Amino acid sequence: MYDSLIHLQHRGQDAAGILTYQQKFHFKRGLGLARDIFQAHDIERMTGNIGIAHTRYPTTGRIELEDAQPFWTGVPFGMALAHNGNLVNYNEVKRKVSEERYRYVNSTSDGEVILHVLADELIKGMAENHVGIFFDLLCVAVAQLFKTMSGAYSAVGIIVGKGMLAFRDPHGIRPLARGVRVNSDGSKDYIFASEDTMFYSLDFKREEDVKPGEVVFIDNDGNLHSRVVGCETALSGREPEFSPCIFEYVYFARPDSMMNNVSVYRSRLRMGQNLARAWKTRYSNIMPDIVIPVPFTSNTAALAMAHELGVRYSEGLYKNAFIGRTFIMPNQDMRKKSVRYKLNPQEIEIKDKKVMILDDSIVRGTTSREIVQMVREFGAKGVYFVTVCPPIKFPCFYGVDMPTKSELVASARTEEEVRRYIGADILFYQNIPDLVEAVTRVQRIEHPCLACLNGRYVTGDVDEKKFKEIEENRNKDRGL
Ligand code: SF4
Repeated sequence: MYDSLIHLQHRGQDAAGILTYQQKFHFKRGLGLARDIFQAHDIERMTGNIGIAHTRYPTTGRIELEDAQPFWTGVPFGMALAHNGNLVNYNEVKRKVSEERYRYVNSTSDGEVILHVLADELIKGMAENHVGIFFDLLCVAVAQLFKTMSGAYSAVGIIVGKGMLAFRDPHGIRPLARGVRVNSDGSKDYIFASEDTMFYSLDFKREEDVKPGEVVFIDNDGNLHSRVVGCETALSGREPEFSPCIFEYVYFARPDSMMNNVSVYRSRLRMGQNLARAWKTRYSNIMPDIVIPVPFTSNTAALAMAHELGVRYSEGLYKNAFIGRTFIMPNQDMRKKSVRYKLNPQEIEIKDKKVMILDDSIVRGTTSREIVQMVREFGAKGVYFVTVCPPIKFPCFYGVDMPTKSELVASARTEEEVRRYIGADILFYQNIPDLVEAVTRVQRIEHPCLACLNGRYVTGDVDEKKFKEIEENRNKDRGL
């Protein structure tokens, strides 16, 4: 699990936790990077053949140790849980859990609330005694949970004396991969993870992803049970559409991930191809001398774009890999300052050239503006700023920590105004259909989540009041 966290470190750098079970829960949680939190003696005492590990970047809650996952509760059985995602109706669910079910919630993390709801539904199921087989009981409990929760949640858990479970919300917004490893005695080990980036090094083979609305349960004898229970039970009352996050492919996931049967790497190559075609249509008489990616996320798309345009791909911005991703850094000043620490322009590649900068996205615009300025300082003749992601106009409420609407540079500005703000000669965004095509060319996904681009929140319950409430919570958590 420690190795897995290292392979998932890009998904969150604020906190991490590992919990195992052998006669009792053994756990450690801490703030910061996994390699700094866990020492050899911590790993040695976390015994057992079942466990959960989590790396956190907060979308709900503060950066405090109390909010680090996994969470556990003693009733019923002893249960632990960690999740990836974000609840839209966190406030309502938390209120219900504490006021109607008398459960104490110690953190501001939605993971703890999900654990309490699941625990409570299991107790209710047992009291009603309408099912005898534990997996059936579990499915009823998760189906009830789907009726209560709105948002994105891919969860994994342990139930003492019973086994291990994994489930994914009915829209399948956040990913959840499943792998298996066959031991020399024929027994099987299972792994569930947001990305399959650790499968190869830990000898696991990739199996299908956990489906939207599916519950997977590995009992204590190692038997796997699975059932889709979330089809008609989403809170919105509508049959939920499979809506995986498109931004995982643009930015969040590691390029070597296979996500929902789509290779992140290949999808990024296709994004670059589509961008090049669109550029040639729009600017048939303007060609850059070089294409420089903002490393590392946009490297793949830039490679394809340069190839399609027939111009040189250049690593004219060198990235210091030992500084955190600016997107995740907590405040504006730190973000701004870190751009120059993090990216070093190479004059020899830039001077007197028409430079096309390719970045994955423009969020607040401050990083893009800094980059354009830096490239100009190093003597570029022209700066064309191309972005793989269409304008981000709306915040994400499903697990990607975007700022509030007013902080998103494209939310209330035209493309021309954003161009002027960042100071580029040309600003060129990928359009939404081209982005969707790049992700879904080889694997049909009819309704990917595009809420941050088009404002259509797939859970169907983000009205103006909800929007305001979530943004206020977010600002409160950030101390604004
Ligand atoms: Fe992903 Fe954007 Fe949807 Fe959030 S709103 S889940 S970032 S596509």
